Order: sequence, then structure tokens, then C-alpha cells
Amino acid sequence: MSLSNPIINYSIPMKTFELMTLPYAPEALEPAISRETIGLHHGKHLQTYVTNLNNLLPGSGLEDLPLEDIVKRAEGGLRNNAGQVMNHEMYFGQFRAAKKNNVPDGELMEAIDETFGSFATFREQFEKAAATLFGSGWAWLSAKEDGALVITQETNAGNPVQRGLRPLLTFDVWEHAYYLDYQNRRPAHLAALWDIIDWDVVESRYIMMKK
Ligand code: MN
Repeated sequence: MSLSNPIINYSIPMKTFELMTLPYAPEALEPAISRETIGLHHGKHLQTYVTNLNNLLPGSGLEDLPLEDIVKRAEGGLRNNAGQVMNHEMYFGQFRAAKKNNVPDGELMEAIDETFGSFATFREQFEKAAATLFGSGWAWLSAKEDGALVITQETNAGNPVQRGLRPLLTFDVWEHAYYLDYQNRRPAHLAALWDIIDWDVVESRYIMMKK
């Protein structure tokens, strides 16, 4: 799959997966995420998950399904690698160069206010979910069928579609996501990510899932 638009429709079957193209230059997210980390995380880690997914898919009985359904139904190594491909495409697709006062607006902001009371409360709860996740995994903001929002912690390659939720935003807390830039200071890395979230992408995911 070649990604020119960061809003991916995961209900389309792909058969063969390709490394996504980043919607920004590798240094564009500095200092939150360095060029070196992007090079390794996108160019090496994600590439390995894509290669493993393509190797494990033939003969699984799931090769005609969209990625989202593979993530929901696969087991073992296929489940892990399919999950990591979907997780990382959503992660890398949700960023842009840093912006001051970077907050969502429109329907997504309304839903955040409704669910959490304020953006500040949402941010605090999301950051806490990411900071306290023990070991490797992901913090997620997702929508329920009725449009209400929910924060979950998913370990390893977990994705909220496995709980029947619609994933919108994610922070990767595997050490490979931040160790080169922040070493053990995971909270400092998480705090920096708020400046580079492309809220237009996240809101588009929210609006797309309501259709
Ligand atoms: Mn990662």
C-alpha cells in the first residue's frame, strides 16, 4: 500500500502491503521526534512489520480481507505484524510540523469536550495512559459506535478495532519510538508529541468513522 493520503480506508483489501510514504520530511517533526528516530522507526521497524505481514499472509485464509479485519481475526505472529502495520500507519499519518497552541476544533473538539469536560482533562488522561503503560504498547483515543470517545491502553501490537472501537489517535510507547531522543524520559517525549499532532487528520478519521 502506497500512502499519499494519511487518511487510510482500512476496509479495502490490499493483498500486498508496502511501506507507507511519510506525509512529511524525516526531519519535519524535530525536536519531538528526530530525523534519526524517524529513519529507524519508519524505515527499519515498520518495514520489518510490513515484510513479516506479507510473508505470513499467504495461506492464512485471511489474504482477501482488509487489513482491519486481518487485525481483528488473525492469531499469533500474523496478528502481531498486521496490528503493528496498522498501528504505525495511523501513528506516522497523524503528525505534521510543530505548531503552537495545537488543539483540535470542529466536531472532534465537541466530542472531546462532551466526553472529558475539556481538552486539558483529555490531554492529562491520555498522557497518563501512555506514561503508565507497563512495557511495550500503545495509548489510543477511539470512538464508540455512538460517537463518544474512549482512551485505552493496548499492549504490544494491540489495536482498538479488536474491542469493536474506531481508533483515532495513538501514542507509541515501545522504547524504539523515543529511546534514541529521550532515553528513559518517556513522559518528556509524550509531552512533546502534542505539538506535532495533525488534528485535521484525527478529525477526518472521526468524521469518516461516523459515516
Ligand atoms: Mn513503533
